[in-house]
Amino acid sequence: MSTPLSDRMARYLRADVQGMHGYAVQPSAGLVKVDTMENPFRLSPELRRQLGERLAEVALNRYPAERGNVLRQALARHAQMPDGCDIMLGNGSDELISLLTLAADVPGNVVLAPLPGFVMYEIAARHQGLKFVGVPTTADFELDGPAMLAAIREHQPAIIYLAYPNNPTANLWDDGIIDAIIEAASGLVVMDEAYQPFASRDSLERLKRHEHVLLMRTMSKFGLAGVRIGYMMGRAALIREIDKLRPPFNVSVLNCEAALFALEHVDEYARQAETIRAERAKLFDALAALPGVQPFPSEANMILVRVPDAKQLFAGMKARGVLVKNVSGLHPLLANCLRITIGTPEENPQTLAALRGALEELSQ
Ligand SMILES: *Cc1c(COP(=O)(O)O)cnc(C)c1O
Repeated sequence: MSTPLSDRMARYLRADVQGMHGYAVQPSAGLVKVDTMENPFRLSPELRRQLGERLAEVALNRYPAERGNVLRQALARHAQMPDGCDIMLGNGSDELISLLTLAADVPGNVVLAPLPGFVMYEIAARHQGLKFVGVPTTADFELDGPAMLAAIREHQPAIIYLAYPNNPTANLWDDGIIDAIIEAASGLVVMDEAYQPFASRDSLERLKRHEHVLLMRTMSKFGLAGVRIGYMMGRAALIREIDKLRPPFNVSVLNCEAALFALEHVDEYARQAETIRAERAKLFDALAALPGVQPFPSEANMILVRVPDAKQLFAGMKARGVLVKNVSGLHPLLANCLRITIGTPEENPQTLAALRGALEELSQ
């Protein structure tokens, strides 16, 4: 523990910020790391060598310039961005969420999302001093249509976030309910498709049809979590306004070049995603066969499981060298739930063995 902030300095900082907790990253050294939905695969040594050569040529003495636009165009092509839309880049989609919230920081504005959901929507709203309304899902993690529509009528949210697939529940929402929400919303609806590489459906058609829909994606779960590239597409006039708040050099020249390199090898990443989807099906069946373990259907690179005692089993798995995320404290609907990221074909049996061992220990 460090010493507390002195009164002298505390006076000049926001009291609400001083009352907040920072985002904690779990230490993972030496463990099978299946806690944060990273793509477990690295590029081949040959591709890494080529990437190294590319990065060595980048002019690190210059501020980021035209390459950012080259990357925007490459991502727009990759995502098949519709005509009339534009795309902006963030230092991860976390930054885009912050910038969008900043753009919507009008007194009285409300941010709304289903819960359990991705924590950054609420954190960004709080940072901006905006009210956040969380609408509980059903017990099996489907959108509660009537509750969502009632909350939209009551709060008239400026921004609604729908993570599709959702995190940490990994499911895709019912499309009829999504469309009813989009019809009912007068403010913005952000379809957050961080897990699009692993999902069977997306929201490109919704982006085409509605001027108040934004489509947010990221290269993180795709395979570049360390590189920090998020992107957001929407009507050009809307993106232009939000982009005014972006720090001008938010995406480094190295991030940009690494992302361009990845898009030139998109087949390699598609193969990785295919392996992850196949591994997901195997892991799901194996989890379902364990006594007292209930996995929930997944369209992402993670599986949410309900277990007999999440706290004990988290510790038991960690003692066996496997780091998952215990999400049971995040929301009452997640009671006794762990979130397991899909690892490599070598890691997933280790994850299973650790859970099996921890379960056996629990029943002794
Ligand atoms: C991981 C995640 C993101 C954030 O990704 P970045 O690494 O900041 O690009 C956004 N939305 C959801 C739902 C996520 O799970």
